Amino acid sequence: MKKIYRQFLAATVAFGAIAPVATASDVPFQAEAREILSDSIAIRTVMGYGNVPKFAHYLEDKFLAAGFAREDVTLIPVGETMAMLVRFKGDGRSGKAPIVLSAHLDVVEAIPEDWERDPYTLIEEDGFLFGRGVSDNKFGVAMLATTFLRLKAEGFVPSRDLVIAFSGDEETSMASTMVLAKRLAEEVKPEFAIVADGGGGLLDEDGKPVSFMVDSAEKTYASFTVTATNPGGHSSLPRKDNAIYDLAKALVKLDAFEFPVMYSDLTLSYFEKSAPLIGGDVGAAMARFAKNPKDKKAAATLRALPEYVGTTGTTCVTTMLKGGHAENALPQSATATVNCRIFPGVGVAKTLETLKGVVANDSLTWTILDNPTESDASPLREDVFGAVERAVHNRFADIPVIPHMASGASDSLHFRAAGIPSYTLTGIFMKAEDEFAHGLNERVPTDNIPGALKMWHDLVTDLAGK
Ligand SMILES: [Zn+2]
Repeated sequence: MKKIYRQFLAATVAFGAIAPVATASDVPFQAEAREILSDSIAIRTVMGYGNVPKFAHYLEDKFLAAGFAREDVTLIPVGETMAMLVRFKGDGRSGKAPIVLSAHLDVVEAIPEDWERDPYTLIEEDGFLFGRGVSDNKFGVAMLATTFLRLKAEGFVPSRDLVIAFSGDEETSMASTMVLAKRLAEEVKPEFAIVADGGGGLLDEDGKPVSFMVDSAEKTYASFTVTATNPGGHSSLPRKDNAIYDLAKALVKLDAFEFPVMYSDLTLSYFEKSAPLIGGDVGAAMARFAKNPKDKKAAATLRALPEYVGTTGTTCVTTMLKGGHAENALPQSATATVNCRIFPGVGVAKTLETLKGVVANDSLTWTILDNPTESDASPLREDVFGAVERAVHNRFADIPVIPHMASGASDSLHFRAAGIPSYTLTGIFMKAEDEFAHGLNERVPTDNIPGALKMWHDLVTDLAGK
């Protein structure tokens, strides 16, 4: 691995694909970022351990030591966890509303016995840093925090306020995110938020950068149950009506149903920019769909592929099944769980109505599980995408910056739902095969620290400088 990694660096430097990464002033902050990453991984900020406040206080000390005013660093306890806000006051010369920069302090549980290395110690090996949260999302926290510390040390005066917003339970209930979202919408009133937890750069198998994603929308995650009930009875006396058969007939109809093709500026831009990277029949279908989303053949090609079907509309799939209570009894009930990823703008209620219409059996009962949060797509803002492109191209020239619609939930969901346009991107460039966030042996290529720090510095000074 080390060899390939070095070859990659040698090759790209030789061809001039990478701009020089370190300037004199970067260097001490690369060490600082690594120290924050290392210290934070040692704090097991998993739900149930009550450790998030410890991490928040650790960061608070860093910000205060760097010269941020006491009143500009706010800790917000939410149950056992904690959110935090750090305001980097601008002089207002741009006349623009603040920008929020966000990440989350908590991590998914990692069981030390299951890992090859201690998940709560930052370990460097073969060009990678390992540890729980090293990519999701302590890397994002370390980069944003260090960028603030560096800008402060450089005497930078933003032309508009910059506000760090760290949440404390993104991986679980997002209660602290909802508190943050409300507070940001009511008190900070930002123009938009950039969330350092998703999107980012992709390296191909040879380690060459190919693209950079900016998640600008999220599909709505919603699960429904559908239940058939029946008086039941003895299995030696079967009747024509039967809860399991009724449910099965409903599921066969759902299986055959396809939601209508949908598109937005975002998804068309995604397909247009992805087409040349993918190539072949699929790339051609992407290009045709981007030009004319009514092209049925192009849509069918994309819909046949699990990785793209979700970008062409709402999807629902049955994921769980339970029914009956005894081998020799007619079933009194049968229930299926149907999980949907709803295209922005459609809504949970309308999706449920569609499913009911497809099944067309009024004797079945439907419920909506949990309390799904809906959010609209964020607009493809010229200022945001322009600045992101410049920052990315300073690092890797000529790779496409692609707006993307995520199918999982992040803090951006609640920011968007509170009316704050939100863009998710990270400074991490890695191969798809090295992605182990939430899994075992989570890792990040070590050289991402200087690259990401420079990228954030460029991005923030672009958006809040001059
Ligand atoms: Zn995350």
